[in-house]
Amino acid sequence: MRRVAVIGAGTMGNGIAHVCGLAGLDVTLVDSDAGALDRALATMGGNLVRQVAKGRITESQRTEALARVRPGQLEDVARADLVIEAVPEIAPLKYEIFAEVDRLAPEGAILASNTSSISITAIAACTERPAKVVGMHFMNPVPIMQLVEVIRGLRTADATTKSVMDLSRALGKTPVEVRDFPGFVSNRILAPMINEAVFALMEGVAEAEAIDAVMKLGMNHPMGPLALADLIGLDTCLHILEVLHRELGDDRYRPCPLLRQYVAAGWLGRKTGRGFHRYEGNA
Ligand code: NAD
Repeated sequence: MRRVAVIGAGTMGNGIAHVCGLAGLDVTLVDSDAGALDRALATMGGNLVRQVAKGRITESQRTEALARVRPGQLEDVARADLVIEAVPEIAPLKYEIFAEVDRLAPEGAILASNTSSISITAIAACTERPAKVVGMHFMNPVPIMQLVEVIRGLRTADATTKSVMDLSRALGKTPVEVRDFPGFVSNRILAPMINEAVFALMEGVAEAEAIDAVMKLGMNHPMGPLALADLIGLDTCLHILEVLHRELGDDRYRPCPLLRQYVAAGWLGRKTGRGFHRYEGNA
């Protein structure tokens, strides 16, 4: 694989482009919002500078990675060996994009989704190449986190899974293969924990800072669940819980009303400067 198209240049898309560019792949980054593309390239540039300052990469690796990532259009998937979709966690939007990308991409190209919870089997069914559709679930922040959860849909071919497992290793990541079930492994376990933390906040068990401190200091989590929800994006957390609730049909996954309220208010976490905590710049 040499050419990758990343669809969606938000929180995850810029990180996916970053690690692909550093690994020597040519990357086309696509977003329906031109402003998001500019922000993604700026974020990526800043993160690469930080990696040079920390001695993790050289100056020439930084400039080469930056040069390999170019903004483009959806039609550019016509030249891609691999398409990685990272648009919002809304099933009909992903279905529409996969149907369109399937029409435009070369016959042999693999189509991967970075979805956190939506069925890969259902996404694949929107294409004429279900054997070549797979989940490639990067973790946030992509340049730092080790895991790629690789999700096999019911009709995903062994060769497709092997290709993305190999590619994940080439990106310096550790892939773990899982089956296609709502939330896979990561969000089947993580999303209910975050939801429970929001219930604890809503019920006045403790303030947000205290809830996070208990989980950090007591459970040795690197960050508290509310701070993590802010990093993920509260809209994304809500979408994941809605998928778990609907698909598994169990009320234990019902999204907390306070989470719904924050999303309705536009308090989406770090990306809007306010969620359960407040943020200035990237702090
Ligand atoms: P985001 O809201 O930060 O970014 C999504 C981007 O997609 C935006 O820039 C938006 O303009 C763009 N977009 C919307 N419609 C589009 C279209 N039709 N064509 C092209 N671009 C379009 O979302 P995110 O947090 O980056 O999440 C993206 C995906 O990654 C979701 O499926 C999410 O569940 C998954 N994911 C998120 C995290 C996380 O921590 N945020 C972690 C792992 C996986």
